[in-house]
Amino acid sequence: MAKEIVKVEHLEKFYQKRHVLHDINFSVNEGEVVALLGPSGSGKSTLIRCLNGLEPYQQGEVTFNGEKIVPTEKNWQKIRQKIGMVFQSYDLFPNLTVLDNILLGPVKVQHQSKEAATASAEKLLDQVGLREYENAYPRQLSGGQKQRIAIVRALALNPELMLFDEVTASLDPEMVRGVLNIISNLAQDSNMTMIVVTHEMNFAQQIADRVLFLEDGKILEQTKGSQFFEQPQTDRAKAFLDSMD
Ligand code: ADP
Ligand code: MG
Repeated sequence: MAKEIVKVEHLEKFYQKRHVLHDINFSVNEGEVVALLGPSGSGKSTLIRCLNGLEPYQQGEVTFNGEKIVPTEKNWQKIRQKIGMVFQSYDLFPNLTVLDNILLGPVKVQHQSKEAATASAEKLLDQVGLREYENAYPRQLSGGQKQRIAIVRALALNPELMLFDEVTASLDPEMVRGVLNIISNLAQDSNMTMIVVTHEMNFAQQIADRVLFLEDGKILEQTKGSQFFEQPQTDRAKAFLDSMD
């Protein structure tokens, strides 16, 4: 049987009195790629943040490899090291070189040796075509390059799950493809388990084993990727896909 990496049961999330996630239920198996789609404001980022302990929730349960994620407890930090996350903004440290940005987590947090961590980092930099920039500073890179470094930085911690939240949303169009290719390769070659929020529908269709369609904080559809794009079940999802063309 496939190993269940993430399980979300009856999750309810409020911001003060505002109810933003309603009875969310799903699980993600090892190696699976789940696209989390839905209009702006539907709760995608909030849900992603609940999965790695960045956001407290009021009811229900989120488990990662069978361990409950409770942001207020000490152990969530340890669990979170197994969960890589990349956001829309790259938030690299401007005063550190590319390599030092990548090494920070493995060396300072995971206490890997600097030599071993550097070797892995350089291998990852090769894979994303940015090895020659290892001693550059973030300001010397384009947006697309910075985002590729942000992905490498997350991968350097050897995560079991990657979360991507609209990582190409603030990039110039000509930068988008290179970043999406890295994520596609990760899905195909490394069999990485991931949850991907994106507005790039061709990309989502290409990589998603399964689609969760969120609207107003509720999961309206949960289907195989191919089925969602070819035959959305709800009018809401149809309208959403039409609006993305
Ligand atoms: P999405 O990522 O799908 O655009 P979000 O998860 O960002 O949606 O937002 C879901 C809802 O929660 C929206 O109505 C948004 O305005 C609200 N929201 C998001 N973050 C906060 C916050 N920190 N405080 C209060 N409301 C928030
Ligand atoms: Mg969002």
